[in-house]
Order: sequence, then structure tokens, then C-alpha cells
Amino acid sequence: MIRFALAGNPNSGKTTLFNGLTGSTAHVGNWPGVTVDKKEGVYKKLNEPIQIIDLPGIYSLSPYTPEEVVARNYILDEQPDCVINIVDATNLERNLYLTTQIMEIDVPMVIALNMMDEVEKEGDVIYEKYLELELGVPVVKISALKEQGLDELMERAYNSYKKDRSGVTVLKETSLNHLINDVKIALKGQKVLNPLFHAVKLVESDELEVSMHNNIVAMVEEFKNTHQDSTFGTDFEALVADGRYKYICKHFSPAIKKKNKDKFKETKSNKADKILTHKIWGIPIFILVLFSIFHLTFAEDFLYLGSIFNLPSLEDLGLVNEHGPINFGVKLLSCIYDGAIFSPGCIINNLWNEVIIGEIFGALQTLIENSGLSYWAVGLLNNGIIDGICGVLSFLPWILVLFMLFSILEDSGYMARIAFILDKLFRKFGLSGRAFLPMIMGFGCSVPAMINTRTLADSKEKIATIRVIPFFSCGAKLPILTAISGAIVAGGVGNADIITFGMYLLGITCAIISVLFMRSTTLKGETPPFIMELPTYRLPRFKNLMLHLWDKAKHFIEKAFTIILASTIVIWVLTHFNFGWSFLGDDKINNSILANIGKLVQPIFTPLGFGSQLGEFGWVFIVAAVVGLIAKENVITTFSTLATCVIAILSLEIGGLDYMAEDGIDAVRVMIMATNISVPALISFIAFNMTTIPCFAAVATARAELNEKNTFSGTLLFWIFASYVIASVIYTVGTWWWTLFIWLAVFAIVGVIIKLRNKSLKKEN
Ligand code: GDP
Ligand code: MG
Repeated sequence: MIRFALAGNPNSGKTTLFNGLTGSTAHVGNWPGVTVDKKEGVYKKLNEPIQIIDLPGIYSLSPYTPEEVVARNYILDEQPDCVINIVDATNLERNLYLTTQIMEIDVPMVIALNMMDEVEKEGDVIYEKYLELELGVPVVKISALKEQGLDELMERAYNSYKKDRSGVTVLKETSLNHLINDVKIALKGQKVLNPLFHAVKLVESDELEVSMHNNIVAMVEEFKNTHQDSTFGTDFEALVADGRYKYICKHFSPAIKKKNKDKFKETKSNKADKILTHKIWGIPIFILVLFSIFHLTFAEDFLYLGSIFNLPSLEDLGLVNEHGPINFGVKLLSCIYDGAIFSPGCIINNLWNEVIIGEIFGALQTLIENSGLSYWAVGLLNNGIIDGICGVLSFLPWILVLFMLFSILEDSGYMARIAFILDKLFRKFGLSGRAFLPMIMGFGCSVPAMINTRTLADSKEKIATIRVIPFFSCGAKLPILTAISGAIVAGGVGNADIITFGMYLLGITCAIISVLFMRSTTLKGETPPFIMELPTYRLPRFKNLMLHLWDKAKHFIEKAFTIILASTIVIWVLTHFNFGWSFLGDDKINNSILANIGKLVQPIFTPLGFGSQLGEFGWVFIVAAVVGLIAKENVITTFSTLATCVIAILSLEIGGLDYMAEDGIDAVRVMIMATNISVPALISFIAFNMTTIPCFAAVATARAELNEKNTFSGTLLFWIFASYVIASVIYTVGTWWWTLFIWLAVFAIVGVIIKLRNKSLKKEN
């Protein structure tokens, strides 16, 4: 198949164009460095199908970071049939710097002048015909966002691909012209492909190039001895860069006519930045923004109106009696209001659970119950499979709302700024601000977040970041958080939004401390400088956002009906059979295979608060945490599956608890409370799940990204160790506050030992 590659600066709109051309839904972000690996798709509107490859964004073809190598190698080695160089027209000169380098490669190319909608909005004009003449390649104006000009772009690319193009350089006006030509001829003699490109890189003394063509380096060195530039001396790399910019200024810049040429106009972005990235207020504002996100998603008392005005509950109004809401209208109302207005996230979640999940699956369960199937089959279907799947599905709206709000922050360009504000702080812990993006991505899913660490140039920084990414609680861990904070609230402590927000902050704090620890012990090293161009603020695009959400929802549902479904069946079987493989009723699960295994390892978890000190169902927590290693959603499905059984036992013992089992979540709460677990232990349980070994998929990704075997096993050990310590600290301090001083003393001693050791190591050197 014919292959066209998209190459351009970070944040120039490559992925948007890629999605527009191929109809795919790859992640677009207003943040340089979102695409770190190449992606492929097919454009079908021409006579033949054309494969489109979205390359990571690059500023130049002299790569420093791994993702830049990906882009360079693709263009050079895989020889695409045409390179579509996408250029951000609002930033023409800087973007053309890369263009001048691609021009040196013997590959057909066209230029896509993107963001024309913004250029026109500013009232600026670009003469693309002039540019075309100067560059010698087709130039097409497009707006990837509005999908304008895409077909013309593809047509011109299609016409270009049929003709060969030999590289040309803009360095012909510099004093290096002769040298470049000589080197080129020498390379050509050795049958090197793209001789001009390699000649220029050799003259620049590009490391990769020098090692590849060692025999020609002497020629360049010899030239250096006889040729000294008045400004740059023998720094040919600088000389080449200067040559490119001079040429761009002289020959290409006249193509653009700016409306407000002279007077400096303060853009909206600049104004917003004065507040949002303020030296002192920047971080408090960010924390406030984060809190608002959690409040919008989880608060059961939106804006605290209920408490402030002391609003009456539906029961006070006589709309709810002992059988529940008096009619369907009230039922709907109860999803929105009950003594307080629910937050938007809660409203959507209530509607989804009461109206959709509750009614549909409830009806299905009744159907199965009356179907005359045997006792155990009904149990497996209703209690094992449906309860388990519903347990996970019931969290879908919350996951999506949270994800959407984070996407808006990212798309708007705000998150990129936070990286800058945090850079100074991060440095104190041994990371650069660049590590912030993968960490924030971790809130969605650890897998892409770990892949994104490829943008980190320093390998030790990368290892440290990968290790703490799971601490940034992902979507799959959200159900654990909300179900358990629900149980905590039901116990009369705190608000759901504050607890959830607090747990996220806890994860972040643990990450910071762990990084500090690693960077001063096993992963010592310099923190590389952080240079990134700030994207302009942009209004997030609705379609983009929806595509994003749809992808996430699809992925989640697929997972629910595959790996999670399979796990629920296994868990149900293991809790309904004993070692002799005879079937146990719901009320006998305490004798099951899983219960016995759980009880065996229970003592290990005693310091964490959910070990031997718990009642007869205490093993449920351990089993849940272990099956969570397959997929974190399993923690809650396990709870949901087991809740019915536990409640069956309780109602045998106490009687009358049946009504509570109706709603899946409430059943989980009842079960959690039946174990007599304390609030500190519940928090410790959340923290343990958040910081321990992540799911299979994340572990596999970590393995692939950490290519040395030792660092990978070290990472697994780190997760086990960190989660054990963190959960123990939380449980003991939460239960006996004075143990805080013991822990502080221990940490202080460890800190002093590390300091002293580092000092003596420094002396030795
Ligand atoms: P990439 O890093 O080059 O892949 O760039 P993306 O495709 O992720 O886009 C970066 C940002 O530019 C996103 O916020 C896009 O919505 C925005 N963007 C892309 N194309 C256009 C365009 O034609 N016009 C405008 N106004 N914005 C665009
Ligand atoms: Mg991209």
C-alpha cells in the first residue's frame, strides 16, 4: 500500500489531521508530546487506499529523545511514498525550521499549512503560492480541526508521490555550501541513500551520523582547521542552524502579512496566564481546580447548598415512604435531589444506576429466578455474573465524567502550564516538569501514561516516573475508592467528594516521597532541563471530547464483558465449592476454597488493618486485593459477588437485612460493615490497592518500557514494599495517633543514613 507520513512540530495538529483523514479516534491533546509512538490508519477517498502514519512531533531531525528518533528513523529508513509536513501557520517561521531539514531528504513532500482558521480569525494573510515557489514543493492551506482542505491536500500529495524529488538545501547561501557538496559527493560514492541529508548532519557533527560514517569525518575536521567563522568559530551545528533561520527570514517570511504587525497586542492567552500561572497563586489555583473537578463529580451536596440552607429531604416532604419513592416521578427526582442537590456527576450516576442498570438487570434477574433453572445455575448467573458485572458497570458514569473534566483541562492547554509551575517544585524531588504529563495521564490509565514516559530523556528519571505512575489512581481504581468512601460516609465520617479528593492527594503525596527516596538512593542523577513550548489556550472541541469519551466507555465495557466477566465466574466458582469440590450454598462461603486460602494469608495483612483482626469475612479483602492484580475493577466485582452471600448469612443470623441487598452498592456497604473493619483500615485498604502492583496490562507495559530485567524486578519489589509500608502507616497512625512519632523517627533515621551515605560517596569521588 502507498504510505504517507505526517511529520511536524509537536502540537501542530498532526493527530487531528490524522483522525480527520482516517476517521480514527487517536488521542489529541493540547500538549506537546502526546503522540509518542507512530500510529497508522487508512485514507480511502482516492483511487487507491493510502496508509497514513502519524509520527511523534519533532522540532528537528537531530533527535535527542527516543520519540524523536522514532520520527527520524521512519522517514529515513522506511522511506514513505510522501511526507506531509504539517506546519502551524500561526507560528510559521519556527515550524519551517523542520521543513528546511525534511527538504534535504530525497522524498516527495507537500506542506499542509494548518490552523488557517486561526490565521484568518486574526486577519492575517498567507500567500501560499509565493511560499510554494520559494520552497519548491506544494503548499496547501488546511484546517485540520474544521476538516477544511483535507481532500485537496491528499490529492496534491497523491500527485507528488508519483514524481521523484531530490533533496535541496537552504544552506547554499552559507559558507558551508562547498563542504556540504563535497561530503555529499563522497557519500554518494559510497552509495549512501539521501546523501544530502546525511552530508548536512555530518557537517553538524551529529552524533548518530558521525558513528555511521566514520570514514568521512576526517574531511569535515580538515575543513574546520582551515575555515573559521567570525561568529561561530568551528561550531558548525550553530552555523547550520543560523543559516537555516537566516534563509527562512529572508525568503519565506515575506509570505505572511500580519494585520497587527507593529503594535504588541496582549493576547487573551497572555492575560489568562497572568493569573493562572502566577508565581504564588498558580499552585493554590491548581489545587482548587482539582478540587472543583472532584466536587463536580462526586459531591452529594453540590456547592454545599443543602447544608447552608438546611433543605428538607424527600422523606421530610412526604414523597418517600417505607416502600421507597411514592411514584416514578419522585424516583427520578430522587436522583437529582434529596435534602441537597447532587453534583452533575452524581446525578448522571444515579440516573444510570436507578433507571438503566437497576431496571434492566433487575428485570433480567427476576426472569432468571423464575426460569426454573437449577439452584446453582441461578446463583451463578444472578449472583456471580450479573451482580459482578453490574458492580463494575455502575461506576461507568463517574469514570466518564471525571475523565471528561480532565480532558477539558488538558485540551484547553492549562495542564501544560501546570507542568511549568510545577517544574521548580519537581526539581526539588529530582524530576523535571516534563514528568508531569505522564503522571496526569495516569489518572486515566497507567498504560498510555507509562508509554508516554518515552518523552523523558533521562533513563533514571523515566524509571522513577514509571514506578510512581500507578499511584496516580486510574479509572479502574475509582470504583474501589467510591465504594469504600461510600462505606466510610455511611459510617458517618466525612463527605464523599472530600474523601475521594483526599485519596487522590494521598496518592500524589506518596508518589512525591517515593520519587525523592529513589532519586537520592538507587536512581541518583542529574535532572535534565525542561524546555517545552507553551501551547495557546484553546476551547476544547466537543466532537473531540465525545470521541475520547466513547473510546473510554467502549474500552471499559469491553473489559467488563471479557476479562472481568471471566474473573467473576472463577471467583464465584472458587467461593461456592470447597476443596472436595462439593457445591456450597451462599451461606456457606466461609468454607470455600477461596475463603480458606484467604484465611491462610490473612496474618500477613494484620499490620495493614485488614488481616487477622477482622471478623469471619475478613478474608474477603485479601481475596479482592489479589484478584485486583488481574484488573483493578475485580476488587469491586469480588465485593459485589460476595456481598450477596454475606448478606444471606447475616439475614439467617439476624434476619430482616434482605431489603438492603436490593441495591448492589448498598449490599457492598453492608458486607463491608459486617466485617467490622475500622475506618483507618478501610483507608489503608484503598491506599494498598492504589500503590501496590498495578493490573496485568500495566505490569506488561512497565516490563516493555523498562528494558533491563533488573529494573523491572526492582519495580515489582518497589510496588510491594511501598504499598505495604504506606498502608501500615495509614492504619497504625489512624488507629493509634501517637504511632505517628514512631514512623517519623524511623523515616528521619532512614533520611539521615541516606544523607550521610551520599556525602561519603561524594567525598570518595
Ligand atoms: P499534534 O501534537 O501535532 O498531534 O497536535 P494535535 O492534533 O494533538 O493538536 C494540538 C492542538 O491543536 C489541539 O488542541 C487541537 O484541537 C488543535 N488544532 C489542531 N488543528 C487545528 C486547526 O486546524 N485549527 C485550530 N484552531 N486548532 C487546531
Ligand atoms: Mg499528536
